[in-house]
Amino acid sequence: MKNGSFETFQVAAMAVDPIHVGTGGARLGRVDNTIVRDPVTKVPKIPGSSVAGALRTYVAMHLETLRSDARTKPYYPDCAGQGQQRRDGSGGHCGESSCKVCTVFGFARGERGGFAGLASFSDAHVLLFPVATREGPVWITAPGALRQIESLAGHEDVEENTIHRKEAGTRPLNLGWLLLPVRKFNGFEEVTSALEALHVPQYIRDRLAIVSDKLFSHVVNSNLEVRTSVAIDPATGAAEDGALFTYEALPRSTILLWDTTCRNPAHFRIGRADVEAVKDAKKVYEVVEGGFPYLEALGIGGMGSRGLGRLRVLKNAAQGQDGAREGM
Ligand SMILES: [Zn+2]
Repeated sequence: MKNGSFETFQVAAMAVDPIHVGTGGARLGRVDNTIVRDPVTKVPKIPGSSVAGALRTYVAMHLETLRSDARTKPYYPDCAGQGQQRRDGSGGHCGESSCKVCTVFGFARGERGGFAGLASFSDAHVLLFPVATREGPVWITAPGALRQIESLAGHEDVEENTIHRKEAGTRPLNLGWLLLPVRKFNGFEEVTSALEALHVPQYIRDRLAIVSDKLFSHVVNSNLEVRTSVAIDPATGAAEDGALFTYEALPRSTILLWDTTCRNPAHFRIGRADVEAVKDAKKVYEVVEGGFPYLEALGIGGMGSRGLGRLRVLKNAAQGQDGAREGM
């Protein structure tokens, strides 16, 4: 019981490519393929289920490269994916108490009754968003986005229609096509040191701008990437007639933040057995971390074949556990 019931690890990650996590073809204005948005703030996000799904697959791939002869059932593809068996009854989640994939990410209902998994993932929210200005790119954020970070939870809202920076500006600054006055932000140091603890690179911390929540949503939505592409007929490899379509994406160098909550395996049983694969919450998180290099190589969301979706986690095992919060 020394670790309590759970530990939460906050993970910041940078979009290495534009990222498109689609709504499944919903149309909005001029865009054919829109991305998922928070229903309240309207700011795009990556659903926790997408984060969990991608990491499950990548952890299974990673463990498969390390698999010993003692285990006959493959981690990949069997324990990846949604766990459906093949028509001949083979495949599907193994559901064994010794399987790091099935204990950490859960497994589908079967003979062993199903299990929700020891790790759970919040939605990945936009923390810092790049916008072009006449002074080069700046990364905007807002009180609502910063409140995701525990040490900044008390931040109050800021003035509307104003850009807040380290120092007041003598001239207004543009965010895209919006021209706004620049005021000093009290508490700037607190924000930059919290971002440093999340391993946000210095060139981004040096170019921060804080705007109101309302303006943040507006500027993010006005500065998403919108690309035009051509649908390819898989049978012929040629462009389909009239198949031009547009899609939106979070731009490269957007910083996203999500929580991974890891439960203490000692409080759970798989069927009648203790969890053998992982012994504490930290070990649960170490299994999740095995998927991070694959997230940067193979990406998340749709249109990976068009060079979209690669995501670099800014924190890893070598950087320590300073992001952990203990539960009761
Ligand atoms: Zn398994």
